[in-house]
Amino acid sequence: MQMNNKMNPGLLKLDLYCKGIRIDDSCLIEEDGGRKIMRTRAGLGSGLEVILPHGLYTNIPVVEAFAKNSPYVLYRKAGKYFIYREEEEICRITLSSQPLWYTQKTSSGKLMSTIGSLQGTYLAVYPSKVCEYWLRKPHANCKFCSVGLNLGVDDADEKSVNEVFETVLAARKESKITYVDFNTGHYPGDTYLDILDPYIRKIKKELGLLIGIQTPPHHDLTKYYHMKKIGVNRVSFCFEIFDEPRFIEVCPGKNEQYGLKRYLDAIEFCSKIFETCNGEIVAGLESPESSIKAIDWITDKGAIPTVCIFRPLIGTDYQDEPPPKTEDMIPIFQRLYHACMEKKLPIGVAPNIRVSLVMLPEECKYLAENSKKYFFLEAKYYLANRTLSALFNAGLSQTASRLVNVMNKNRKNLPADLR
Ligand code: SF4
Repeated sequence: MQMNNKMNPGLLKLDLYCKGIRIDDSCLIEEDGGRKIMRTRAGLGSGLEVILPHGLYTNIPVVEAFAKNSPYVLYRKAGKYFIYREEEEICRITLSSQPLWYTQKTSSGKLMSTIGSLQGTYLAVYPSKVCEYWLRKPHANCKFCSVGLNLGVDDADEKSVNEVFETVLAARKESKITYVDFNTGHYPGDTYLDILDPYIRKIKKELGLLIGIQTPPHHDLTKYYHMKKIGVNRVSFCFEIFDEPRFIEVCPGKNEQYGLKRYLDAIEFCSKIFETCNGEIVAGLESPESSIKAIDWITDKGAIPTVCIFRPLIGTDYQDEPPPKTEDMIPIFQRLYHACMEKKLPIGVAPNIRVSLVMLPEECKYLAENSKKYFFLEAKYYLANRTLSALFNAGLSQTASRLVNVMNKNRKNLPADLR
């Protein structure tokens, strides 16, 4: 590796995803107010939530087998936390704090941490029952996924609109969230958008927060006009893998039910409607060249790639697979930054949103060569971010939400009732 991760927080974030960390006995994570490790969401996060230098939030693997051999070790000295690599101190880090609302209960008596969890600084909610691919015999789940292992453990099974709303309210008050992300798996009858509808309406009407949804691609694409109308700001489609034979192998349920093309069609359609449309892939499950092709395809359509790093989670079909090598990942994330900037896609605009489970495209500037040539574009996005953040911080979330809508590059092409 050419770059020095002691000086480069982006490279350190990437390297920690790939290598994990060992936690020294001196550490008192929960006693010091750190966030407890939760097995939630669609199978890529299970680790320690921390904040690296330059404010980079991350979720570092600790429980998986590969992390036991990591060159990185977390130490506690005089109440502070430091990452070491082979006896050398790399940097001081901050533990992401455990929100007090995690231990509060909803009026129905459920622990709020089982309703939603903070991923970095946003609230993630998996509101409905387990993805149906996990219930088939034999299972048709994506082979890296742990959702069917998690629900009912750290995550409640079914969540009412009121339970979710009370949790969102508590997270807004204490953790100052600006964004709620709803995630569903596949359900027979393509019911996932209908299921999410009442949650979205309630949160948008009462709190005006930004809302994102991550579901399979509905066969009736006009449904996304309705989702836009009720206040969805971001849609995300996880096709995971661009190489079709590999997609078929890793994601049998998705292939049988939808096929890769339907994911791609949905991205193309929705990138012309929403403020943000994401195509999500998992780097490390196909060749780096194929991941880069996916990034180019997604950005050509005006959507923004979300690039996760494969993590062989315990209990999944791929638990014994090796994690990807950092050196193989660097060109992917370099391309992610350059492709977004070349196509003038608005990255880094979302207010007060730091994501721990993936490298955000704007964080990839730490890996990119010649990033200074985008100085003016970055300054423009920074200004937009500061303006929106100030509105949210002042409690003007409805105004901020309207401004996000006005900033939508697609606005002038939308039907009048959606502008
Ligand atoms: S679609 Fe795949 S990744 Fe998503 S919840 Fe179902 S099995 Fe997991």
